[in-house]
Amino acid sequence: MAGFRSRIRASLADANLQSALDANAERRIKVRQNAFASLVNPQELRARAHLVRADVIEHLDSYLDQFIAHANENGVVVHRAADADQAIKIVLEIASQQEARLIAKSKTMVSEEIGLNHALENHGLQVIETDLGEYIVQLRGEPPSHIITPAVHLRRQDVGKLFEEKLGLPYTEDIGVMTNVARRTLRQVFLDADIGISGVNFGVAESGTLCVVTNEGNGRMVTTIPHVHIALMGIERILPTMDDLALMLSLLPRSATGQKLSVYTSLLNSPRRSDDPDGPQQRHVILVDNGRIAVRGSELREILYCIRCGACLNACPVFREIGGHAYVGRDGKGSTYPGPIGSVVSPALFGQSEFGHLARASSLCGACREACPVDIDLPKLLLRVRAGIGVSQTRNNAKPNAPALLAMGLRLFTLAATSPSRFAIAQRLAGLFGSIATLLSKGDPWMRLPAFSGWGYSKDFPRPAAKSFRTRYNTQVNFEADEHDQSPANRDTSATKSSNIDTSSQHAENLLTIFSNELEVLGGKFSLCPPEEVLQKVLEILQVHAIDKILAWDAAYLPDRLLERLTEAGIQIICPTGENIQTSSHVRAGLSGASAAIAETGSLLLLGGPGRPLTASLLPEIHIALLSEKDIYKQLSQILHIEDVKRASAAVLVSGPSRTADIEMTLTIGVHGPGELHVICMDD
Ligand code: SF4
Repeated sequence: MAGFRSRIRASLADANLQSALDANAERRIKVRQNAFASLVNPQELRARAHLVRADVIEHLDSYLDQFIAHANENGVVVHRAADADQAIKIVLEIASQQEARLIAKSKTMVSEEIGLNHALENHGLQVIETDLGEYIVQLRGEPPSHIITPAVHLRRQDVGKLFEEKLGLPYTEDIGVMTNVARRTLRQVFLDADIGISGVNFGVAESGTLCVVTNEGNGRMVTTIPHVHIALMGIERILPTMDDLALMLSLLPRSATGQKLSVYTSLLNSPRRSDDPDGPQQRHVILVDNGRIAVRGSELREILYCIRCGACLNACPVFREIGGHAYVGRDGKGSTYPGPIGSVVSPALFGQSEFGHLARASSLCGACREACPVDIDLPKLLLRVRAGIGVSQTRNNAKPNAPALLAMGLRLFTLAATSPSRFAIAQRLAGLFGSIATLLSKGDPWMRLPAFSGWGYSKDFPRPAAKSFRTRYNTQVNFEADEHDQSPANRDTSATKSSNIDTSSQHAENLLTIFSNELEVLGGKFSLCPPEEVLQKVLEILQVHAIDKILAWDAAYLPDRLLERLTEAGIQIICPTGENIQTSSHVRAGLSGASAAIAETGSLLLLGGPGRPLTASLLPEIHIALLSEKDIYKQLSQILHIEDVKRASAAVLVSGPSRTADIEMTLTIGVHGPGELHVICMDD
């Protein structure tokens, strides 16, 4: 606890950290609000998402059985790990079978939780984090300080100095330059890695599909390029159906990064099949328990509904002051999960005695619950942790997780608060005490009283109100009884009307217009033309960039004779495969089709499979996609019902060019994936 307090004081005294945290939280909250504004009834979606997650946790065994059966049928090797040691052992066994030396990782909180990097490095493996924020904190030898933005505590100057020291880049504060250097360095890691390790956002029981969302493209790289892909998945991250996945994907990116969809939503069904041009030859998923089954049987089970969006961290007034690195256990070891979610998950998974005190770092203001897309009652869970209820305790045998003096105070409060008359007397006594203290201190009394010595280094102790809440409430009730004529029904009616207006006007819009607008908001470029003009459009893009060589899908999946005519125009065509990946990686443009598009999010659906290499849309800096107007759908759930989404070895939803905001929340386009996305839509 002393370590926790001293970390808090250090964080509060760190002006750079304070400004970094403020900037992050304010922007995150704003973009989240904007993203939710595009949903017709977000509260209803939250309620549905809560029910889905509750159902999953209630019937976890059965959904896991379904998921395992389907994943096995698809050719994915499924492993189960009861704890961190078993999970590490499984990864080491796979690495040893492959004689692996280099591992490229995309961000996975489960791997942080089990200490995977350390364990692999101890066995002589080189492990490189490829998410820009994770890469930065790995170079600094630090854990991530936020579950979504790992380097949120750093300023551009810190990263500039780090890249100068570790990568030999002359000192710069230009975020674009730093991102470019990271791109170049990590590109070779993707190409050379023996194994790619990723997390899993959701596993779909009805199909065995793994869903991985990223913005930079590193998630696509590590799940596509190395010969072996290992996915680490907490057992609770199951969803029953594709409809449930559509629901969660409407909430997760909005809550995490304020996007309608992340740039890349990968849907991985199987390893590379014999006629696929690319993809890993082996795909493994490790289902990690590590204490989750025990949490499921406890009073903290609701915390398993969490989808790790990080919104509660951004909303929490305590996290916004102290940052993720201040959340430490009793032995000074950092809590993998910080903020409100971490203050429940860490005690639940790793022990009350070690992490129970974290739950006291909360004002219980309810902002975390309000921000949570699956409506987890975090304040209730925080109170349970404070009351000493962990995975091995029930309410009856819990020992309060509080020092003796605080425990006595809480008992006195319980005594007063459980009887209206005792509560009224206690309020009067408190008011009297406040008046005496004010008189004695002649001014601003509260900070000077020894009993409140812990207050004041970050915030003021509020002055007691002149009238108690109870008095004001009683007065207000009487007043409202007099004003009863102002019927709330009228106000409700007008609110309903306005939401109906929004809905009907949205329906009236044309799908093509919505899609092109959304794509352009994301930074993509849209053009509409008759099929016979596609060749000219493609050539114009290539000429602007002086490109004479492209990666492309097979001719069978592109408009008739297009590749032939491009060749006649002097363009060299390469079909990327797992075998020519090193040379393909230097080609600057890629040409693909698109099986469908989503108007509401401006996204494209690209199915992998024979003749449709996924790397054509991933490796080059410019991606040109050809779409047919008739293939534009309104929403995500329709796309996820396309049978081939479940049948293809892998599919991806692409929403704009690759991007990151990992350094100072500054948007930078073109990280690991293409920095330009051109959609040429053929009208019907
Ligand atoms: S508790 Fe809710 S808000 Fe916090 S990370 Fe989990 S899902 Fe997101």
